[in-house]
Amino acid sequence: MFAMVLRSPMTPLVTEQRPDPRPGPGELRIRVEACGVCRTDLHLLDGELPQARLPVVPGHEVVGTVDALGAEVSAWRVGDRVGVPWLGGTCGACDYCLHGRENLCDAPEFTGCTRDGGYATHVLANAAFCLALPRRDYPDAALAAPLLCAGLIGGRALRLAGKGATLGLYGFGAAAHILVQVALAEGRRVHAFTRPGDVEAQVLARSLGAAWAGGSDEAPPEPLDAAIIFAPVGALVPTALAAVRKGGSVVCGGIHMSDLPSFPYRLLWEERRLLSVANLTRADGHAFLAAAARAGVQTRVRRYPLAEANRALLDLREGRVQGAAVLVPPA
Ligand SMILES: [Zn+2]
Ligand SMILES: [Zn+2]
Repeated sequence: MFAMVLRSPMTPLVTEQRPDPRPGPGELRIRVEACGVCRTDLHLLDGELPQARLPVVPGHEVVGTVDALGAEVSAWRVGDRVGVPWLGGTCGACDYCLHGRENLCDAPEFTGCTRDGGYATHVLANAAFCLALPRRDYPDAALAAPLLCAGLIGGRALRLAGKGATLGLYGFGAAAHILVQVALAEGRRVHAFTRPGDVEAQVLARSLGAAWAGGSDEAPPEPLDAAIIFAPVGALVPTALAAVRKGGSVVCGGIHMSDLPSFPYRLLWEERRLLSVANLTRADGHAFLAAAARAGVQTRVRRYPLAEANRALLDLREGRVQGAAVLVPPA
């Protein structure tokens, strides 16, 4: 197999040829068809994820075909099309796992962080944490890849944001371009905030149905019931709190954010809520894929050959990707 490997923080990924991995008990070996590039991968590269186990193959939006089964796997067959998300395993025994909050497991495995992910031609995955992505529903693997993190985590953030009709999305990248479609299908009105001056992202937001799109330094045309912040910018927290109405919520959707500035208590007063979303549960995965199918979500992707992973990461970092970047291994 061929993989792009992170050996140490702040260094480019390097190419490695490895023997094809053998699936252990409960594992699938998957031939990767596409793997999305997520902002979390940038945090991994920058050494901002203390749980990472290096060296590691990044990538947690993996779409591929099962090509070998480990012992004790009965739910999948060779040839099945699956997705491998960020949550790669849980302990099944901690208080969180036992009470339906496995996203907060005390001893979790994260794909492309604590175990090798999908920036490769092959990956091993815990069969119990894979999601079905049948080829008839998802003929193009690259278009399905962003659903697996940008979509799933975005969907969890949307649920935590509550049922309010007016939603603000701060940062209009991979997650927001999917979520705007799901939110519209639920009958909500969406206002999109981009980096100031990012006209291209604002055009994309409007073309996907956003009622309004502007810079994050602008006020929305009406108070928001809830806001979700995808940009890793702590300064957006008081901005978003100031934009939500009484009783509204601000949800931080990223795994890492720059420090929050101090802000006057009146921005939180009147029962505004500020919360973060962490990881996902398997139930989130199934619920989101169903919601995305109902909404007829169409993703916008930019494809890169797997060997050009470093270029894709740089383009994402510098804001040159509209929608989602996806790596495609050689056929
Ligand atoms: Zn646990
Ligand atoms: Zn991600």
